[in-house]
Amino acid sequence: MVNYTKLIFEQSVQGRMGYSLPEAVFPCYSIKQLSSSILRHSSLDLPEVSELDVLRHFTNISNKNHGVETGFYPLGSCTMKYNPKMNEEIASYPAFNQLHPLQSPLQVQGVLKVYDELSRILSEISGLAAYSLNPFAGSQGELTGLMIMKAYHESRGDFKRTKVLVPDSAHGTNPASVAVCGMQVIEIKSTDKGTVDLEDLKNHLSDEIAGMMLTNPNTIGIFEKDICEISKVVHETGGLMYYDGANLNALLGMARPGDMGFDIMHINLHKTFSTPHGGGGPGSGPVGVVEKLVSFLPNPRVKHQDGMYYVEHSKDALGQVSGFFGNFKVWLRAYVYILSLGKEHIKEVGPLATLNANYIKDSIKDDYYLPIEGFCMHECVFDGLIDQSTGVKTLDVAKRLLDFGFHAPTIYFPLLFHQSIMIEPTEVESKQTLDEFIQAMKLVAHEARTNPDVVKNAPHTTPISRIDEVYAAKKMILTYKDYLAECALQK
Ligand SMILES: *Cc1c(COP(=O)(O)O)cnc(C)c1O
Repeated sequence: MVNYTKLIFEQSVQGRMGYSLPEAVFPCYSIKQLSSSILRHSSLDLPEVSELDVLRHFTNISNKNHGVETGFYPLGSCTMKYNPKMNEEIASYPAFNQLHPLQSPLQVQGVLKVYDELSRILSEISGLAAYSLNPFAGSQGELTGLMIMKAYHESRGDFKRTKVLVPDSAHGTNPASVAVCGMQVIEIKSTDKGTVDLEDLKNHLSDEIAGMMLTNPNTIGIFEKDICEISKVVHETGGLMYYDGANLNALLGMARPGDMGFDIMHINLHKTFSTPHGGGGPGSGPVGVVEKLVSFLPNPRVKHQDGMYYVEHSKDALGQVSGFFGNFKVWLRAYVYILSLGKEHIKEVGPLATLNANYIKDSIKDDYYLPIEGFCMHECVFDGLIDQSTGVKTLDVAKRLLDFGFHAPTIYFPLLFHQSIMIEPTEVESKQTLDEFIQAMKLVAHEARTNPDVVKNAPHTTPISRIDEVYAAKKMILTYKDYLAECALQK
């Protein structure tokens, strides 16, 4: 293994050079003339490689990656969809590339217009009064939304409300955001149909409840039919309703959280509204609110008056949650994506995403255990293989799928089931791709019965096979030199 890594990563050959500069025409520009105080000394331990070595190295590494542009990526609760190249092209225009965060608003009227119009479009899509595009991620949007919830209660002199209701099926960021915001999580049970248990909810309502966090369709892809009743009882006790809108695919153009009684929500532009994401790339988690909460939205805000756009800092606002408008291009991609679909076609996203998820769900339910029967929305959840007699687990199935060129679905989430497999195909996949995936899932189930070791030892075709994920997370080894040192230590 050491040699293998060395083979890929150790490219340095003493004396090899990437680029040699010609002698300067004007001697004063020659490196030889530079004062030694500004020259870096040669003691730095940098690889000595040619341009071609570097190019091949990075191209080969990138080819080992799996992305939505190399294959199917059915990651439930994460909406990995194709990002149309038109968005990328527009986001790469030199005029946008050369923006500076300290430019005067007068010089960036177009940027502010995109902010203003995208906020209005999101308001219309979600049925809320106004948006701030400032948060950099879904989770930061959640925190911002909860801070608004807290500020609202405190502005009314109501300091008792420190508890937030969160269903047991919720995405992990929900309870985490509540805790980071200094409030307490109250977990609400799900029924055996996978929806909020109304009785359990009612038993937890009190004048200490700041609000409830929910997503609908919920995290197992089921629509909460009682949503109006849920909003009503939470509002009656003085709480606010928070909608986790990270994945809006199923709703787009069909239903609006604002109409279901939600007061605050965030949207992940980098999931539903097309921006490449993963690996901590640039994100955007706009936060929307109903009319009575608009004054709490964070600074800075973009206003439009008398044909001019300007940036305003309001003293009622939460303050600032992010530096400048650093993720402008994520908004721009979302803006182009929404306008290119238009009002008519954005309505097709939800039904197609739902159809694709149901097609997969129905096609593999003889091999994988469906804990919740019936219609699902944009994603479906299985609880491992039906036949577990040979000991093949969800992790093994996920690893074996890699051998067939698919990214694994989300596994072991939601926590409601022990062997969760959560599949979200999105609207962009063709029937051919879905059929190939279904065939692979059925084949893995067949192998699990007839030749379980091939599944238990998968993957067999990837550059490295199974990794010790716990060890990898606890002991971060980020360079190959650290890796070699670690190998030497273990010997
Ligand atoms: C992805 C996701 C989040 C968090 O979004 P980030 O941008 O990754 O912080 C929150 N809730 C749900 C349901 C999600 O799927």
